[in-house]
Amino acid sequence: MDSTLVTDDTAILGRILAKGGIVVFPTETVYGIGADSTNFEACRRIYQIKNRPLDNPLIAHFDSLEQIEEYCFLSDVAIRLLNHFSPGPLTLVLRKKSESIFTLGLDTLAVRIPSHTGCLDLIRAAGVPISAPSANPSGKPSYTRESDVITYFMGKVDGILQSTEPVIGIESTVVDLSREIPILLRPGQISKKDLAGVLPMLTDVSDLQTEKVVRSPGTKYRHYSPEAKVMVLNEKEFRSLWEVKQNDDVSAFIGFHIDSKRSFDKNVANNREYMKFLYSFFTDADKAGRTFCYCQEPIADEDFEALMNRLSKAESKN
Ligand code: AMP
Ligand code: MG
Repeated sequence: MDSTLVTDDTAILGRILAKGGIVVFPTETVYGIGADSTNFEACRRIYQIKNRPLDNPLIAHFDSLEQIEEYCFLSDVAIRLLNHFSPGPLTLVLRKKSESIFTLGLDTLAVRIPSHTGCLDLIRAAGVPISAPSANPSGKPSYTRESDVITYFMGKVDGILQSTEPVIGIESTVVDLSREIPILLRPGQISKKDLAGVLPMLTDVSDLQTEKVVRSPGTKYRHYSPEAKVMVLNEKEFRSLWEVKQNDDVSAFIGFHIDSKRSFDKNVANNREYMKFLYSFFTDADKAGRTFCYCQEPIADEDFEALMNRLSKAESKN
């Protein structure tokens, strides 16, 4: 790669994608690294750039329900969910009906209509769906700041979309509708409670652990982990560690009501802020060479599950 075009011009970046280029762009969840979903060679390049295992499929991003219908079978439940939550941070796994879209040979495709206007404009400008995983080296925390994607992807991709519209934080909620029963594969900003209004019969993938089948290929990989060792602590444990370690050379803290002058420690007011800053906290802690990331347990509200899912994966490193 000779040069990377960094711009807010979605028309130019759309043309780059349509010609087989790779573009990094913001979404309302995290940054994505995308290629034309109908160009398999371009999609495979994403795996090389990210060092992503070749059996972990990508989510295809669409601008409308009609565009999804060109490639996938849409059940009544799928249409109801899409009408209710899209555009937005919900991914559905559907049965594909076209061979012309990149699925790593699977008979299913994960689809999402993002609500971030820059991202939607980019899909429209490209004129094709865009397949994209999160824009980060495989296994590392997803990037949620423009400065981080520019630092890492400059010279590695053809374009980077700039935007002032905020990126909210953790990855999309993933629901598998390709089998007899709907299964929640990954919790996210759209909570189980939100989904229950439209989809009362939802089974959590963690309740299916006795099954031999890997329900979502990506779930077997280590995710979201910084180099530093992550420890999730209840309020009492967190406070006592904060008291003794807040000025040491190895620790970094994210939690509620911490008053720190160190730029890598992160004070958050609620779970929504926690989602927004978790990954940049991990990135900053690594940059500052910290050995330990101490994370306060989130507040017990409807975002608890999605946050704990990411924190537990970071803590266990598998
Ligand atoms: P990311 O790589 O962070 O964008 O996350 C994409 C997630 O969607 C991974 O956990 C993938 O395994 C999952 N995914 C993508 N396509 C499929 C599919 N066809 N079936 C099941 N899960 C999928
Ligand atoms: Mg990812």
